[in-house]
Amino acid sequence: MKNYIKHHPWSIIEEAFDKKVHRVSESIFSIGNGRMGQRANFEEDYSGESLQGAYLAGIYYPDKTRVGWWKNGYPEYFAKVLNSVNWIGLHITVNHEILDLNNCEILDFKRELDMKAGILHRSFTAKMKNGITVEASASRFCSAVNKNLGVLKYELKVNQKAQVNVEAYMDGAVHNQDANYDEYFWENCNSGIENDNVFIHQKTKKTAFEIVAAAKTIFEVNNEKIQASSSFTATKAIQKIDLELDAFTTLAITKYAVVISDLYFKKENLKQEALQNLKEESKFSYDTHAKAHADVWDKKWEECDIEIEGDVSAQQAIRFNIFQLYQTYAGDDARLNIGPKGFTGEKYGGSTYWDTEAYCIPFYLSTANQNVARNLLEYRYHHLEKAIENASKLGFVNGAALYPMVTMNGEECHNEWEITFEEIHRNGAIVYAIYDYIKYTGDQAYMAQFGFEVIAAIARFWTQRLNFSNDKNKFVMLGVTGPNEFENNVNNNWYTNKMAEWCLQYGFEQYHWLLHNEPESLTRIVNKIGIGQEEVNQWKFIASNIYFPFDTKHQVFLQQDGFLDKELIPASKIPTQQRPIVEHWSWDRILRSCYIKQADVLQGFYFFEEQFDMDTHKRHYDFYEPLTVHESSLSPCVHSILAAKLGDESRAYEFYLRTARLDLDDINNDTRDGCHTTSMAGTWMTITKGFAGMRVLNNQLNFNPFLPLKWNKFSFKIKFRENLLAIEIEKELCHITNINGPEINIAVKDISHNIPEHAQIIINYKSQSV
Ligand code: BGC
Repeated sequence: MKNYIKHHPWSIIEEAFDKKVHRVSESIFSIGNGRMGQRANFEEDYSGESLQGAYLAGIYYPDKTRVGWWKNGYPEYFAKVLNSVNWIGLHITVNHEILDLNNCEILDFKRELDMKAGILHRSFTAKMKNGITVEASASRFCSAVNKNLGVLKYELKVNQKAQVNVEAYMDGAVHNQDANYDEYFWENCNSGIENDNVFIHQKTKKTAFEIVAAAKTIFEVNNEKIQASSSFTATKAIQKIDLELDAFTTLAITKYAVVISDLYFKKENLKQEALQNLKEESKFSYDTHAKAHADVWDKKWEECDIEIEGDVSAQQAIRFNIFQLYQTYAGDDARLNIGPKGFTGEKYGGSTYWDTEAYCIPFYLSTANQNVARNLLEYRYHHLEKAIENASKLGFVNGAALYPMVTMNGEECHNEWEITFEEIHRNGAIVYAIYDYIKYTGDQAYMAQFGFEVIAAIARFWTQRLNFSNDKNKFVMLGVTGPNEFENNVNNNWYTNKMAEWCLQYGFEQYHWLLHNEPESLTRIVNKIGIGQEEVNQWKFIASNIYFPFDTKHQVFLQQDGFLDKELIPASKIPTQQRPIVEHWSWDRILRSCYIKQADVLQGFYFFEEQFDMDTHKRHYDFYEPLTVHESSLSPCVHSILAAKLGDESRAYEFYLRTARLDLDDINNDTRDGCHTTSMAGTWMTITKGFAGMRVLNNQLNFNPFLPLKWNKFSFKIKFRENLLAIEIEKELCHITNINGPEINIAVKDISHNIPEHAQIIINYKSQSV
């Protein structure tokens, strides 16, 4: 069932309970604070289909890989973010029957994710089999103030006097549904009770991460506290009450849970830290915590909101995307990254993909302090040694680095040869992100400090991965997979060759930049990695002599050698019931088809747009887009931005809707496994880079806007270097306010305007008058 989410500018609302979509809703209504995340599972028992999920950033398990046929170079394990202690649980019985919405007649149900305040609410009225009607409401959040804290409030009433028992528990006996061998990933160290607080101490097998979860639950009837009894087993810690509840009297439950790990605290102090933290936090009411939490979100929205007037569905969607991104990654820890599903599901193991560099960096660059994006870059810098080790396992030498396709700690986790060994374009995105970061922030010091070492190691990889073809008298790259994963083991994937060319050229330029501007840093790097003029000259030589497949008839670069041998039938001719083809066609048929999973050549046009004129853009867009099935969530956004650039406003908008409401409308039928978090950054780009046409060109911020037909106006804020700016686009007018920061020069449709601090300019971008 699609489109069951009610449109609302600030909330995601579901007004009925449908078991068939419960797993989808569990993903959509997830909450998180960058450190801990929680799917929208019910607090009380639920015996229907559900994916129980509570995750802790950076806590992973190296699950032994499953492969059909082992190949040398495969990684031994696939790191997975662990499903960790369930801190929300309330086991409730009413007259000895378990409250379980799967077994009740549901008279009323509402779930609301209040994105403005960052709080999940749910209320329901349900008739139990024993005839008793229960009315309940639940609210909870993962605190944005104390990132180790989750707080929930649960209120319950019955329509006749009844025996109500509640066990507020924390359960450590949790599994990952995606465990390869159905293994249990946690070991129990200790659990117990201390001064009315319960705790569980656990350790991950193999990785030996330790966590302590401590909880305190307060039960009240008519504002009077009811004494709970506490108990524990090796994996469960419980605070329990048994009471006779009068009809229509509210039983109020407030649960505080602190979950901490040895990523942030010393192992030997974990228990005391957790209990102390809990003691402090449980002094404050739910409402006090909720208010402080909402204040943080309020501030965040002040900086990163996009407002759309005239289209509630689009408004809701963009806020949902922004909200999920900030729930996933707050940017304060360079050991953390952004899993493609964030904290909303297990698929992709919560690991890092090229998605971060290719899609997420621009979002964080514009909506947060520059340290946030810098932390994402440093994450890769810290993994450089591992990337060099990874390449050396594959036979590369001289400090060449191949960053993993999927990783948690720098080691490769992906184990399908066509991706692990061949989808090497990911290396390029990592260099591109450095370039993008410096271009946007002006933080050239990053190049000297960390950037160049990464670039050099990647350049060394490309020089070895390309080989000279005597036949073509050019350097070629054999056996690769481009971003279009519906083609494997192809030769001369244009995008990958382009990336290699660009990285080598950029590396050459940056070497000289360091030579002239940061000679001491260069000396340090030279001493460390032994680089020199001769080597970088070779990069330049190779970059200037790379082969690119090109077809003179269509005047397009070919996705790879031999692409035109395929039967070129537009994707629109594929019968609807056969879409998505990845679910309906054999892999053999997909590989031989001309269909493109996601932007491939066009991804290159998106990254390197300055190298091509409009006609060339249009020719390539017109050639490739009709063959593209957009079966990766990363695809529509890039196409939206290109369509906007080409002036095809309606296509740009169509792609926007497809990316923005991907999860809210479960467009790809897979939100049950989690939301498409990394592509949400792409959604943000469709508005800022697409509709507003935002670019940094020659060190200057540029806009080339249009207003989608259905909208009355849209506005957003961005941070650009020292400035916080507000941009508002109407049908003909573009308002730019320099909220704070020094006077800034900004171009609208290539005409520059000076904007002093606190000033606003209004430009008619159709007529170019001010
Ligand atoms: C896409 C990749 C992406 C991965 C994780 C795949 O379906 O093809 O480009 O990195 O999903 O989002």
